[in-house]
Amino acid sequence: MELKDQSVTVQITKALKERISKLSPSSTTVILDSNTKRYCYPTIQHVIGDHNLIELSPGEAVKNLEGATIIWGGLTKYQVDRKGLVIVLGGGVLGDMGGFCAATYKRGIPFILIPTTLLAQVDASTGGKLAIDFEHFKNHIGIFQEPYETLIDTQFLSTLPEREVRSGYAEVIKHCLISDKNLWIELQGKVLNQLNWDQLVSHSVRFKKRITTEDPRESGLRKILNFGHTIGHAIESSALSQGNPILHGEAIAAGMICESFIAKQKGLINESELKEITTYLHSIFGHLQLQLDTTNLIELMIQDKKNQNQKILMSLINGIGHCVWDVETSTEEIQKAMDYYFNRV
Ligand code: ADP
Ligand code: ZN
Repeated sequence: MELKDQSVTVQITKALKERISKLSPSSTTVILDSNTKRYCYPTIQHVIGDHNLIELSPGEAVKNLEGATIIWGGLTKYQVDRKGLVIVLGGGVLGDMGGFCAATYKRGIPFILIPTTLLAQVDASTGGKLAIDFEHFKNHIGIFQEPYETLIDTQFLSTLPEREVRSGYAEVIKHCLISDKNLWIELQGKVLNQLNWDQLVSHSVRFKKRITTEDPRESGLRKILNFGHTIGHAIESSALSQGNPILHGEAIAAGMICESFIAKQKGLINESELKEITTYLHSIFGHLQLQLDTTNLIELMIQDKKNQNQKILMSLINGIGHCVWDVETSTEEIQKAMDYYFNRV
C-alpha cells in the first residue's frame, strides 16, 4: 500500500487544543459515559477550557430515544447555541448517538469524535453513519453526517478490557481480508499483545476513508465492508435474544469464517485459503459455544436491510485481499456454512 507508514493517529491534547482554538466555539460540551469519564476524560479535561458534561450509562442499552433525550435535554439545559461544540468521548455507542444528537440539535452543531475503543477507532468513527436504535431495530433512526473532526489517539486503548480490544481487532482483520493480503500475511501467527495499534488503526482508517469517500451512501463498493456481517449480525442478534450477548467483533469473527466457507463453496477462494482464515480467526477468538437455531438465523438474514426482493445478498471475499458484493446466496449454502462452524469437531 502506498501510504503504509503514514499515521492518522494524533497526540490528543495537542490536537484538541488546536482544533478548539481554530473553531472558537461559544461553549463546549463533553458527552461521555462512566468508564470514559474515569479512564479518558482526565487526559483532556484540562485542555478544553470551560465545559459542560453530559454523562450516560455505558453500553448499547442507552443508545435509544431515552439516551438521545438525555443528550438533547442536557444541551438545552446548558443553553448551547449553534456555535456550541460537542465533544464525544467514548466508544461506538456514544459516537453514534452523541454524533446523531449533535447533528440534529438546532439542525446541527459541530461535533468532534474522540473514539476510545478499538472498534470505534477502526470502524464506527469513519464514514459518517450516525444513529440510535429503535424498538428492536439496531441503528434504525439515523443520518449520514461527517463530524467537524475525528481525533484518534491509541493511548486510550491501554485501559480498554482485552475482550473489547479483541472485538475491535475483528474489523482490522476484516479490512485485511477484503483489501490487503500483505498485511494479512504479516498478522499471521501474531497474538493481540504483539500488535502495533498505531500502524493497524491508521491502516484501517485510511482504508475505510477511501471506501466511504468513493461510495458514501453504500450504493456499491462500500458494501465490501459488510463481509462477515450478514451471518455475523444474525449470530449477534440471536445470541442477544437468547440472553447470551456476545460482542460485535466476536460475532463478526464467526461470520467471517462462515462467509469464507460460502466463498469456498462458490469457488471464490480455495481450500487452503479457507483453512488459513479459519485457523487464524479461531486462534484469536476461540470457538463460539452457542446453541443457535439455524432456521431462525436464516430468517434474520432475510430481514437484513441490505437485501433486495427477499434474496440474501452477501459480500464475499474473492481471494484473500479482494471482495465482491451483492452475491446471491442460497439458504442451503448458509446451512452448510453454519454446520462448518458449529458442528465441526
Ligand atoms: P463499541 O465501541 O464496541 O461500540 P461501547 O461504546 O459500548 O463499544 O464501549 C464498550 C465499553 O468500553 C463500554 O463499557 C465503554 O464504557 C468502555 N470504554 C470505552 N472506552 C474505554 C477506554 N478507553 N477504557 C476503558 N473502557 C472504555
Ligand atoms: Zn462491524
